[in-house]
Amino acid sequence: MVEEHSQSLPPVRITRVVAAPLLGESPPGGWSNEIRPEDSIHTLIAVHTDAGITGFGSSFTDGRLAMAALAQLEPLCLGENALEPARVSEKLHQNTFWFGRGGTLTHAISGIDLALWDILGKVTGLPVSILAGGRHRDRVRPYCSLLMCDPAEMGETVARYRAQGFRAFKIGWGPFGRRDDARLDEAIVAAACAALPEGGQLLVDAGASDAYWPNGLKWALRTAEMLAAHGVGWFEEPLVPDALEDFVTLRRTARLPIAGGEVLTRRQSFLPFLTQGAFDIVQPDVTKVGGLTEQRRIVQTAQDFGVRYVGHGWNTALGLAADLQLAAAMPGVDLVEYIGGSAYLDDLTEVPFALDAEGMLAIPDAPGLGVRLDPDKVAKYTPRVAELFDAGAGA
Ligand SMILES: [Mg+2]
Repeated sequence: MVEEHSQSLPPVRITRVVAAPLLGESPPGGWSNEIRPEDSIHTLIAVHTDAGITGFGSSFTDGRLAMAALAQLEPLCLGENALEPARVSEKLHQNTFWFGRGGTLTHAISGIDLALWDILGKVTGLPVSILAGGRHRDRVRPYCSLLMCDPAEMGETVARYRAQGFRAFKIGWGPFGRRDDARLDEAIVAAACAALPEGGQLLVDAGASDAYWPNGLKWALRTAEMLAAHGVGWFEEPLVPDALEDFVTLRRTARLPIAGGEVLTRRQSFLPFLTQGAFDIVQPDVTKVGGLTEQRRIVQTAQDFGVRYVGHGWNTALGLAADLQLAAAMPGVDLVEYIGGSAYLDDLTEVPFALDAEGMLAIPDAPGLGVRLDPDKVAKYTPRVAELFDAGAGA
């Protein structure tokens, strides 16, 4: 018989919140104003507590912006009970309404929220997937995300990652849709298709959130037809992110699923896209939308509207770890995004992510987000490793 406890866990008080930019190995994004290795695009967040337990999260934003956001957010966190991620995150959203909600502040709150879930798991000894309601699965298929390039190189690139065990691929950005050359676009897709493993899957991302995206609905309709003819699994960001009505039209017309939503933040922003039928697949980014608390609500709403969910937290090991936990905790999740060839994903944790013989990723069942950062590895990519792991460092 299980012993009944008369007392619940005492509060675990937040003592410090730290941001540590990742620098030096930032992979190209395919952006027209391309990311340089020394640019800071992703930032690790640590939440330190009086219990000596630290939780870790990740924010998709420049480290300098994250640190400025923490000047606002940290005072609201200090002394709070780290075992209450949803309440503390909502407090942060509610009290920063006027200072730029949806932007850097929301991205930074995402990292804090992930760290709080990590702490809750570490204190209770449970993985976040259990805390979020239970595990529907113990593994999930990662699709390897690769930048588009000219056709010959595209085939070689897919083949290289196929050799690492990936069975599903997404190609995007780069020249696609940007050279007014439909034959080039089709040749890139055909080259990738030819390099797939037996039974493999190809997804295509136009990346229309890029600066000055030149195409509209007519291009998207024509291109969707081409992609469907090649058996592509979905067409992602085929339109500028705010073209809600065109997304609705495209989704109704296209023969293949339409995916999007990676640039939206806050659960409220997703509502018109979900209620009006803009997406077949929604791709919230857990390191932008407000963390796991917000993402869970977005996924539940999406699924109530019959929209598939595929996470976009692919840019760091902690983003992927959060996506994996949610992939377990939500019904019907069959894919997670996995950026090909990023040190911030492959080289931050004690135990690297590893594909099994069927190209699947195990979903960790260790406490919290289920992965442990390796300070020696992290130190290669941030000047603030001491503050990240030691609550007293540099204070
Ligand atoms: Mg994308």
